[in-house]
Amino acid sequence: MLFIQVRTGRWQPKQPLFVYVILFLLVGDNLENIKKYMNLALEQAKKADINEEIPVGVIIVKDGKVISKAYNKKEKYNDATKHAEIIAIQKAAKKLGDWRLNDCVLFVSLEPCLMCMGAIVESRIKTVFCGTKNIKCHDINKKIANTNKISLKMGFLEKECNEIIINFFDKKRKK
Ligand SMILES: [Zn+2]
Repeated sequence: MLFIQVRTGRWQPKQPLFVYVILFLLVGDNLENIKKYMNLALEQAKKADINEEIPVGVIIVKDGKVISKAYNKKEKYNDATKHAEIIAIQKAAKKLGDWRLNDCVLFVSLEPCLMCMGAIVESRIKTVFCGTKNIKCHDINKKIANTNKISLKMGFLEKECNEIIINFFDKKRKK
């Protein structure tokens, strides 16, 4: 077993080196998982894009299993509330037979709007990973997340999640 204590410099490790190696591996693995799920959310966003809906996709995960997938269906139902997050939350609650989604993690390609952030609070989801930031409501979302002890993290597959939105509105403008 390796016990290296660095006694010089500003960084004074309190644990043996292998503890940091294990921590690093765990965090690395977690990041890979986050990217894997965000990729699935992005796949949902692509489905929305094909259906000429604003391309936003959501995945809800519980205990490492995907329990719900959805994409924006505002145009299809002519309903302003049919955002991917709302549909995914409804599906997850139905699947679990419980509206309390405490142990669920939500992955969304674009940071939620205020309506969806409200639904996240109400369904008690405590962890949200966003592909890209929604500048329209980021500051308010941060406050809501803080007040409700929700971990709201940005910037996973950011480039891809951003591009799909930008391309969608570019196509619309050209029509
Ligand atoms: Zn929304």
